[in-house]
Amino acid sequence: MKMSKMFVQTLREFPSDAEVVSHKMLARAGYIKKLTSGVYNYMPLMWRVLKKIENIVRDEMDKAGAQELLMPFVQPKELWEESGRWDAYGRELMRLKDRHDRVMCLGPTHEEIITALARDVLKSYKQLPVNLYQIQSKFRDEVRPRYGLLRGREFIMKDAYSFDTSQEGLNKEYENMAKAYTNIFNRCGLPTKMVQSDSGAIGGSVSHEFMVITDTDAGENDVFYCDDCDYSANSNHAVSKLLPAEVDGAKYFTKTEVIDTPNTHSIEELSKFLNIPSTLILKTLVYIVDKKPVLALIRADKAVEETKLMNAVGGVEIRIASSAEIAELMADKGFDAVPGFIGPNGMDGITIIADETVRDMKNFVVGINKTDRHLVGANLSDIPAIENYVDIRLVEAGELCPQCGRPLKVTKGIEVGNIFQLGTKYSKPMKAFYLDENGKAQPYIMGCYGIGISRTAAAAVEAHHDEHGIKWPISIAPYHVVIVPVNIKDELQMKVAGEMYEKLLSAGVEVVLDDRDERAGVKFKDADLIGFPFRVTVGKTINDGLVEYKVRETGEVLTLKPEEAVEKLTDIILSK
Ligand code: ATP
Ligand code: MG
Repeated sequence: MKMSKMFVQTLREFPSDAEVVSHKMLARAGYIKKLTSGVYNYMPLMWRVLKKIENIVRDEMDKAGAQELLMPFVQPKELWEESGRWDAYGRELMRLKDRHDRVMCLGPTHEEIITALARDVLKSYKQLPVNLYQIQSKFRDEVRPRYGLLRGREFIMKDAYSFDTSQEGLNKEYENMAKAYTNIFNRCGLPTKMVQSDSGAIGGSVSHEFMVITDTDAGENDVFYCDDCDYSANSNHAVSKLLPAEVDGAKYFTKTEVIDTPNTHSIEELSKFLNIPSTLILKTLVYIVDKKPVLALIRADKAVEETKLMNAVGGVEIRIASSAEIAELMADKGFDAVPGFIGPNGMDGITIIADETVRDMKNFVVGINKTDRHLVGANLSDIPAIENYVDIRLVEAGELCPQCGRPLKVTKGIEVGNIFQLGTKYSKPMKAFYLDENGKAQPYIMGCYGIGISRTAAAAVEAHHDEHGIKWPISIAPYHVVIVPVNIKDELQMKVAGEMYEKLLSAGVEVVLDDRDERAGVKFKDADLIGFPFRVTVGKTINDGLVEYKVRETGEVLTLKPEEAVEKLTDIILSK
């Protein structure tokens, strides 16, 4: 490829809406161009990277015994009604109507389509197990599309679905996919951590995510892990053993009574005013789950994990209530308390979820929906009966590992892939059955396995860059080498550069010749920004028969004869 002909536009500045490194660099180096919110053009450089990742994924999936197919992107509502997800999926599902007023959606994932396909084709146990995958654009109307390719609305995903006749079969395939995923990400130059996770809108019970560990803002997930054993989990799924804490307020409160607690709007103010630790306060938080208010009760030194709470309610969308919504709830129940004084009493008809930390509390303090007042010395018999306690607590670093009891640590991660055991979550409602050895109809035992292809490319940039630009791993770089003649008017420089270019090309190396009439400094800057793993500079030293060979990753520079440089590059690149 000649640089002068490349369809690329590098920018002088980072785009103003870019917050994370991968978005900044991919946009500035001309890999992506935004069309509209969360929707990008993949320019030729980007497309080369994406195709390389796709091909690694294909290779490993095929080796693992899966078969590739391609399903339609536009999907009919009826199948989503069969699975029960038409209502359950929420607003990420982009719904539309065709000219006949038939309701459709843009595929955010393909469980419904593949299950319908399987039930038509896989009629006998003799045809099972099967694992089918595709690589395709998905559309999700994300609440907050951001970070460029990391969280787009239209993005490329590999999604695979397995069909088995038994849980043992599914377990085996799950392991098989976990291994394939580890290989895939290693080959992409991206070491990942496999962590336990919540299974979200897809459903099912067991699931793991593959996280690229990063200390940048781009890591949207908190991963809790233990150095002493193999425990690691996304914060939406992590559990811990608590450190000992004071949970009986008998020494502060001799009787149960309502007292004045003026201006104690926060837990901090209240514990200071009463001179007690916050572990003796029962905190009541108001959330809105699928448009309805929900009260969450938790020991006040701990925070609520929203996904856990949402799952406990069985909802699909959750957010903390606004002060206006709290005021409305208060008015509805005949109270006029402001936030800080809310409590569970008198909230008939409202869903109340209590965290496990509440169970052990005695002689505690709780809001009673009266501004500037609290009930102190309260016990569980003083609040509405709690049928069961659920873990809705956000784990904190330093709490103890649920497996081995050592302190947990926390880090940030970018989820690049995940694997789920679906069981019969789709096959049962969609009546996707096969006939077993006895001629009896049985639902398939299913698994599903996703990889964000475009997110993986962006995660690779998060993991491999410096202040000058991207440092692509060789396996997914758009090109391996750039040859930079310093002065294109210099005949010898151009001749040597051209010869090296041809030799590398014919050896199978992917190479760019920067034949633009630009200052050398500009070309070097672009080469670093774009992130070619190797640069060969043909400048004045060519008069002594030498060129400069530079490795982007390490900054290593060698002065070599042109034929030595060609040989070295060919050896390194073709051995990868
Ligand atoms: P997240 O928690 O990040 O929203 P998810 O759980 O919704 O991800 P899945 O539905 O399991 O993700 O999708 C499979 C893979 O697709 C994810 O592991 C991720 O790599 C990728 N992916 C999901 N949503 C997006 C997005 N909005 N933009 C880019 N890639 C995405
Ligand atoms: Mg999502």
